Amino acid sequence: MAPVLLDGRVLAKELKAQFTAEGAEWIGTYGAAPCLVVVQVSGDDASDWYVRSIRRTCEGVGFRFEHQLLPTETTQSELEQAIRTACADSAVHGVLVQLPLPKHLAAAGAIEALDPNKDVDGLHPLNAGRLAQGLPAHIPNTPAGGMALLDRYSIDPAGQHAVIVGRSGVVGKPMAQLLLARNATVTICHSRTPDLAEHIRRGDIVVAAVGKAGLITGAMLKPGAVVIDFGINVVDAGGTVVGDVDWESASAVASAITPVPGGTGPVTNMMLLHNTLQAARWITGAATSTIVS
Ligand code: NDP
Repeated sequence: MAPVLLDGRVLAKELKAQFTAEGAEWIGTYGAAPCLVVVQVSGDDASDWYVRSIRRTCEGVGFRFEHQLLPTETTQSELEQAIRTACADSAVHGVLVQLPLPKHLAAAGAIEALDPNKDVDGLHPLNAGRLAQGLPAHIPNTPAGGMALLDRYSIDPAGQHAVIVGRSGVVGKPMAQLLLARNATVTICHSRTPDLAEHIRRGDIVVAAVGKAGLITGAMLKPGAVVIDFGINVVDAGGTVVGDVDWESASAVASAITPVPGGTGPVTNMMLLHNTLQAARWITGAATSTIVS
């Protein structure tokens, strides 16, 4: 039987309508749009593309977007000062530091310069700690989008064995925390895990967050597994993008699977809008709404 397609484009369209309405309501109440600032240090082409896509996403729902593009030679203290200044502006609700930074700059210092309430990427240690403790937090956009997809397709992780491949602070680890909070039994695998296939075969839910095209094949999966593929791998000069999961073999075995492209990717920026609204609500003391619980 063909697997259920966990379609990120469908969910993103629904969330876009929701955030357009919530943004309009916000403007009606407060007289100004929710505002996101992206602080970027020039020098990375992929980041230029990504920041343009954030702008389109924000402006597409009527949010205000500001781009602070700093020169490549910006020093650590200049960068941190720019971040602190953006965070201190009461008209700004969310601040995102575009990563990666040039090699002479430390991402950890830049992230710690953020006001945790405005850290819409959910990378500040306070947000990571709050997530780990089950407290309200800004959740990193990519795993939040993965959970939103599970919810959209009524897949309940409770009691399921979730196997996550990848342990970065941006994707794998927060995904593990989110699944654990929803009562899954969680295994985290990484580059030093022996017998990766053996772990994956035990997964009712398999999450790929590696960055290696086709690393996970259908032969490794338990029949009927739910597969969330966060991988984005450009495999040729024409810009063809594939996931970490081999689509052809995995879709013959899985009960539900995210396509790449069109799965987790389109939902990620929507979660940034969610966090920007959440930040606006926290800052003004308005009630919070949660998409991902
Ligand atoms: P990182 O490079 O930070 O982390 C990769 C993880 O994969 C590490 O934990 C690493 O292990 C692990 N790993 C590497 N090789 C293997 C292997 N052979 N077997 C098992 N584990 C392995 O990547 P990110 O977490 O930032 O991103 C992961 C993927 O998700 C990338 O393809 C990225 O492009 C994509 N991505 C997708 C987004 C979306 O919206 N869909 C947004 C952000 C990222 P170790 O820790 O031991 O090094």
